Amino acid sequence: MNARQVDVVIVGGGMVGLSLACALKNTGLHTVVVERSESTPRFSLGRDCRVSAIVAGTAEMLRGIGIWPHLEGKVQAIAAMRVWDDQHFGSIRFEAEEIDREALGYLIENSVLSQALLDVVHDAENVEWRCPAVVDEVHWRMSHVEVTLDDGSELHAPLIVGADGGNSWLRSQAGIQTWSHRFGQRGIVATVRPQFNHHGVAYQRFLPTGPLAMLPMSGDLCSIVWSADDAEADRLMMLDDDAFREALQLAFGPQLGRVEEIGERAAFPLRSQLAKHMVRPRLALIGDAAHQIHPLAGLGVNLGIRDAMVLAQELADARRFKEDIGSLDVLSRMRRNRMPDILAVMGGMESFHHLFTSDFPGAALLRDAGMRMMGNAGALKSLLMRHSTGLSLPLPKQIS
Ligand SMILES: Cc1cc2nc3c(=O)[nH]c(=O)nc-3n(C[C@H](O)[C@H](O)[C@H](O)COP(=O)(O)OP(=O)(O)OC[C@H]3O[C@@H](n4cnc5c(N)ncnc54)[C@H](O)[C@@H]3O)c2cc1C
Repeated sequence: MNARQVDVVIVGGGMVGLSLACALKNTGLHTVVVERSESTPRFSLGRDCRVSAIVAGTAEMLRGIGIWPHLEGKVQAIAAMRVWDDQHFGSIRFEAEEIDREALGYLIENSVLSQALLDVVHDAENVEWRCPAVVDEVHWRMSHVEVTLDDGSELHAPLIVGADGGNSWLRSQAGIQTWSHRFGQRGIVATVRPQFNHHGVAYQRFLPTGPLAMLPMSGDLCSIVWSADDAEADRLMMLDDDAFREALQLAFGPQLGRVEEIGERAAFPLRSQLAKHMVRPRLALIGDAAHQIHPLAGLGVNLGIRDAMVLAQELADARRFKEDIGSLDVLSRMRRNRMPDILAVMGGMESFHHLFTSDFPGAALLRDAGMRMMGNAGALKSLLMRHSTGLSLPLPKQIS
């Protein structure tokens, strides 16, 4: 069979792979997204139990590539966030007004965001969506990559991108190893209906076994992400709905009144992972294929979308200046741009996790003092808020 010449093959059409495809839609680069399965959401009280907090800076990026109109009426603005420590009195509240924004971010169901991205991909003339499909073989040559799909078709491209998640097949084909650390925890997710309306406030309570987040969804529902040590997570998953509701009520406290209703639960193992190489000649890894973090700050997919935007920008510039888009020079520019952000977020998450799960006697006092200090330090607090919402990062230029 004759090989077809394309520009970019993206393996994995999750939120990150699709974001890259959308960002490339006006570049003229012929892009093929290979996704192994249609995503089928797991519903919990009629809503996808997988949600993402998309911070304000990432939302700006999604606006920039035309996704926002497809999300109209389907997102919940996060107007404020309250974080507190179960072990002590320390607590802190972040308000969007403090950084002159209407929202710190938006809560979006993963399947809703994926569908919005897919709608844009379907309208893009230069993007091909191959699903269900998998790459059977990949061979790196000097001038291009040879890709064979499971239907026998062959693609030749100057660049292949791995956006195929934490267990990336492409990463292992390239022989790239990872630094990996399992937290020995799982994140339990579910949709719940509390007695009182959330008013757009996201809550995060740090328990000795891990953080419990109660995130506002559109309507009067909330999504929980309850990270707990494996044994505790097992116990919680085995409880019947009434017993789980009681355990949740006890762990979260009375902020939103009673937990009236709880939907189906699912649990995901949590780990932190970093690929030892983000780029190689004719290969770039983005999203969870390149890095995975603890979901306690809800930043994983945000980091991935930022990778996608920066890579798209570099590829568009390279094409304009007639550079080889798969060359290490071009790909290294994206890596150099992204690594400080990735390492800062990963380092921050590790430190938070250790500080909040430590049973070292002084740790609770340190957390308490830290939260009080941050709460009273106006300029420092807004700096932290601008960083954590991604607003301090430059927005990519118009990608075309
Ligand atoms: C409990 C929990 C809560 C979270 N909450 C948040 C949050 O609030 N905010 C946030 O920013 N992040 C959050 N995250 C992290 C976030 O979910 C991930 O960072 C994000 O899903 C990564 O997206 P991705 O597209 O890189 O990878 P994935 O979502 O893993 O997508 C990979 C895609 O590649 C496809 N694929 C895999 N292998 C192949 C192959 N060989 N061929 C073709 N296709 C393939 C898969 O089918 C999939 O569609 C959370 C994570 C967890 C576990």
